[in-house]
Amino acid sequence: MSRFWSQGVEGLHPYVPGEQSNQKGLLKLNTNESPYAPSPVALEAMASVSGDLLRRYPDPESKALRATLAAYHTLTPDQVFVGNGSDEVLGFAFRAFFVGKGALCFPDISYSFYPVWAQLFDIPTTVLPVDDAYAIPLEAMPENLGGIIFPNPNAPTGIAVTRKRIEALLRRHPDTVVIVDEAYVDYGAETALELIDQFDNLLIVRTLSKSRGLAGLRVGYALGDAALIEGLVRVKDSFNSYPLDAFAQAGALASVNDEPYFQETVAEVVAARELLTQGLVDLGFEVLPSSANFVLARNLRKTGLEWHQALRERNILVRHFNKPRLSDWLRITVGTPEEVRTLLQALTLL
Ligand SMILES: *Cc1c(COP(=O)(O)O)cnc(C)c1O
Repeated sequence: MSRFWSQGVEGLHPYVPGEQSNQKGLLKLNTNESPYAPSPVALEAMASVSGDLLRRYPDPESKALRATLAAYHTLTPDQVFVGNGSDEVLGFAFRAFFVGKGALCFPDISYSFYPVWAQLFDIPTTVLPVDDAYAIPLEAMPENLGGIIFPNPNAPTGIAVTRKRIEALLRRHPDTVVIVDEAYVDYGAETALELIDQFDNLLIVRTLSKSRGLAGLRVGYALGDAALIEGLVRVKDSFNSYPLDAFAQAGALASVNDEPYFQETVAEVVAARELLTQGLVDLGFEVLPSSANFVLARNLRKTGLEWHQALRERNILVRHFNKPRLSDWLRITVGTPEEVRTLLQALTLL
């Protein structure tokens, strides 16, 4: 607390990211990073950013990157917004679409940054409890909301909803902006992309942090109707004209253009997820059906915190959430097949 803080700063409940440890020999399965390096083509593109390019401000509109993303998703550049990680894109979206609109609804078990932005921007919230199987009951979404947001697949459960159900939701809430956070969609969920031209209230948010192995670069983007994108641009240009630096624009563009490497690394992770799931089940764990690069698992022989601590002592870091309905569970990021075997071996001894 400081007497210099603005009103409300003392009462904020900031997001707490997973531990970023550089400890040697630590197997880090706690923040859903890709176990694979970014595309070599992307690394090359960033290495060849020239001094002259860096001397200047970057393109404030990231035109080349947006054109590349638009072509990749068969959209037009005015349907694409880019930002400094999807966290920033989501923050801008909360400001652009949810302030003064009524209650924002998200699942009770979901990305824990949503309530943080809501508090920052004074947006009232209401939660939609996930069902007994931890799935989002989209059909039970209340009426007359100021906004709707959920990840697909959901985090930290990994459970996906079908595009058909998202389409029905959009139809039932035509006057409410619905944000589908597709941070993990590449690992197996159905994207809502093809609904964009039909629904002007749909915003899809994506990131290069997970499936493209670029969490350190900070690039995320949003796809939606041009009027929604214009709202995001207005907020961005009232905050920071240059959220993407020259390295980020060059690296992201090259990554999106390297489809073979992307497909190959995603397929490796999906295969390792099945290895991890089966191994956990064989050890007596209950594992939720995941369409993401992590699984949520529990084994009531120990509490979530006890499992977390026991693994930590064996130099394996997984994520535990000390929250209602989640405290028995561990969220485990899918690593390489070798990393998965190391984890399973450690669990065998516990
Ligand atoms: C990781 C994650 C993000 C944030 O990704 P960045 O682009 O790295 O900011 C957003 N939403 C969900 C659900 C995530 O898990």
